Amino acid sequence: MNVHESEKISGLLNSHGYSKTYDIENADIIVFNTCCIRDTAEKKILSKIGDLKALKRKNKDLIIAIVGCMTQQKGKAENILKSYNYVDIILGSNNHLDLVKYINELPKKKKIIKIESLENNNLIENFPICRDSKYKAYVNITYGCNNYCTYCIVPYVRGSEISRDPEKIISEITNLLKNGVKEITLLGQNVNSYKFENVDFNKLLSMIDNIDVVENFWIRFMTSHPKDFNSEIIETIANSKHLCKSIHLPLQSGSNKILNLMNRKYTREQYLNIIKNIKDNIPNCGITTDIMVGFPYETEKDFLDTIDILEKAKFINAFTFVYSKRNGTPASEMPQISAEIKKDRIMRLIKKQNEIAKNLSNKYINNTYTAFVESYDNKNKHFITRLEDGKQVNINSSDKSILGTFVKVKIINAGISALLGEII
Ligand code: SAH
Ligand code: SF4
Repeated sequence: MNVHESEKISGLLNSHGYSKTYDIENADIIVFNTCCIRDTAEKKILSKIGDLKALKRKNKDLIIAIVGCMTQQKGKAENILKSYNYVDIILGSNNHLDLVKYINELPKKKKIIKIESLENNNLIENFPICRDSKYKAYVNITYGCNNYCTYCIVPYVRGSEISRDPEKIISEITNLLKNGVKEITLLGQNVNSYKFENVDFNKLLSMIDNIDVVENFWIRFMTSHPKDFNSEIIETIANSKHLCKSIHLPLQSGSNKILNLMNRKYTREQYLNIIKNIKDNIPNCGITTDIMVGFPYETEKDFLDTIDILEKAKFINAFTFVYSKRNGTPASEMPQISAEIKKDRIMRLIKKQNEIAKNLSNKYINNTYTAFVESYDNKNKHFITRLEDGKQVNINSSDKSILGTFVKVKIINAGISALLGEII
């Protein structure tokens, strides 16, 4: 989601005559689009801001701006300025689209901090977006979140959930497709709770699936929430032309006690039922998940309940996290688990998931699939393609014209996170 926010910030600066550079030494403006969802993300950004001290000393005209949700935390902006007094602009997650206005005000004002409360979150439409790819794109369908999972800072720093007008969504997608984009990912913290007047998520998916400006395109969406993921969505995907057979369904924990403490509003039994329903109705659907270990009160038994779901659900990929305390969230007040236990559990979790993913990956070998060629990896000198179920397939080819097209591939080898294929 932050990648897409950065595309909007780039688009905004671009429309005011600025252009992107990868040469940090010669940049006029450096913008940090921050994320505070986990402590590690926040520490990484602060260390990068620290690295700029020498550059700012050398180039007094350099403007350093910090935007995004990290700044929205109580007292954070003031703390950043205290530790890094060479930062010029700090904007909240609701104010970053005014960045250019504040850059222009800088000669008059020495420092600018603008952090608005997120109460009246008005949606701004039709702003310029400088997309990283010509072939795949992200489209927001909702902003913010109302779920208040007890570990999560998002509702406090991104505000309440708002759904975009479906007409605006359809029009953005139609334009992207007309301009050659072939793979679109719909974005929201909980896409399943999308609701605009009488259009719910299921209806929105059907409307998008019926867009007929081009013949071939793929639609993905994230993130789904098990409490709102229903069988209608499964049916819509099963009967669709363009919706990928790929579902990202965060589990977080396999223990009912922990799910309850997390305020997730589903049980392990309900989660496993959804998985069964998906597998029964969407053959070969790729299911991925997010899992967290080390949440307060998590015992060895709770952790083993998570491992048990891993074994039963067989995710093709899992994003695994160590719980990190976020100030202001209910879980931060609960008794915390030791770093050693967290480390031990995350390592065992990753090991188990890697075994499962490797076994699943082997099943692709010698089979043929349609893959979408997303990008070229200059470092590893191969194309990155993706199957409908979300699995990544790397392909060696000298034919640059395959970029942004659908190709037929045969899988010749399998790793844990990516497969190796050849065009047939
Ligand atoms: N809205 C989505 C995504 C939230 S952020 C959802 O509900 O799943 C992506 C992932 O970050 C979450 O799924 C969760 O696993 C992880 N996460 C969120 N807060 C965290 C925290 N305090 N510590 C560790 N991981 C966290
Ligand atoms: Fe955070 Fe829960 Fe909302 Fe996801 S659904 S953003 S984890 S509060």
